[in-house]
Amino acid sequence: IDSRFPAMGTTIFTVMSKLAADCGAVNLSQGFPDFQAEPALFDAMHRYMLAGRNQYAPMAGLPELRQAIVDKVAALYGTRFDVDREVTVTAGATQAIFTAIAAFVRPGDEVIVLEPVYDSYVPAIETVGGKAVFSRLRFPDYTPDWDEVRSLVTPRTRMIIVNSPHNPTGSLLTAADLDRLATIVRGTDIAILSDEVYEHIVYDGEAHASLCGHPELAARSIVVSSFGKTYHITGWKIGYVVGPEALMAEFRKVHQFNVFTVHAPSQLAIAEYMQDASRHLGLAAFYQEKRDFFRALMRDTPFELLPCRGTYFQLARYGQISELPDTDFAQWLTREVGVAVIPVSVFHADGHDEKVVRFCFAKREETLVAAAERLRAAF
Ligand code: PMP
Ligand code: GLN
Repeated sequence: IDSRFPAMGTTIFTVMSKLAADCGAVNLSQGFPDFQAEPALFDAMHRYMLAGRNQYAPMAGLPELRQAIVDKVAALYGTRFDVDREVTVTAGATQAIFTAIAAFVRPGDEVIVLEPVYDSYVPAIETVGGKAVFSRLRFPDYTPDWDEVRSLVTPRTRMIIVNSPHNPTGSLLTAADLDRLATIVRGTDIAILSDEVYEHIVYDGEAHASLCGHPELAARSIVVSSFGKTYHITGWKIGYVVGPEALMAEFRKVHQFNVFTVHAPSQLAIAEYMQDASRHLGLAAFYQEKRDFFRALMRDTPFELLPCRGTYFQLARYGQISELPDTDFAQWLTREVGVAVIPVSVFHADGHDEKVVRFCFAKREETLVAAAERLRAAF
């Protein structure tokens, strides 16, 4: 076949999780919890299925869930989106991101992304004929270089994609960052796509600077979140976008022919589950304990831990252990030590390698202990 994407391989998450399974390694690579969500969520889903809520939901999502989302966003960030016109339920954040890019980016348009960049953005941009333009976050704290971002803006710039809390680095955008971004896009028609799937996983008392809470940016932004991260159900593949009516109308033009609508019983279950705000408000403390537990375990290994301000990912430098490029090191660690990790160079356009790997600590304590024991034994 005359491949449309001859250079495209398989996503690193699939590659590393398969290798972990093949080698019997402790899988700290792909980001997903290895523990169970609360039974209340499953009971609700079951109840709605038995009650016959099994047919198509409205294209934008069931009103119960849209209302719960709008209420949550208003409570946290102070912006009340319109339930009918400014929120859409999506089949996870991946579909939301792809749909937003397809809705706004024309062939030849440029999209500025900050690298290391989450692996689905650039393929989506290129699939619709756009061009990704890269600005590198500053090592080792992975903060944006806004002067560089400004210098990359051209008349072809259609979109800037930001992600905070940031995967894979665990860095955060601050309110000051949002102000800088606002000055860059002011007077242009550049749209912002803000990936906030880890919005509830921010540590040490820092606040999540949602674009929803920045009126000037919110007026030109599609903000994405994912229930997979928030409620420990990555396999449900359900999330949402919020944004102003004019942008959401464009988003829905693509969404309706992309998925049309999302699994109905899980929308109802999540809408009910969201009523208890402690479930998302408690997430930061829950994961902070895991972060601190994992960091303490890692202190007895030669890995040098970088800061982790949010997400459930911990970056570590391994230059003291090995000279291997990070992709080779990740494979070696998985095969020979039995701990699977993600090499960070795969999130760089040019394979730029800072000799850093990513550990996922959204795991039971026993899983983290087992990984640390293998690392300690090896080094
Ligand atoms: N964006 C980021 C930054 C992510 O880490 C992930 C998932 N790990 C996604 C998007 C995709 O989320 P979903 O599983 O809801 O498609
Ligand atoms: N986003 C998750 C991670 O960073 C994985 C999602 C996926 O496998 N596509 O590990």
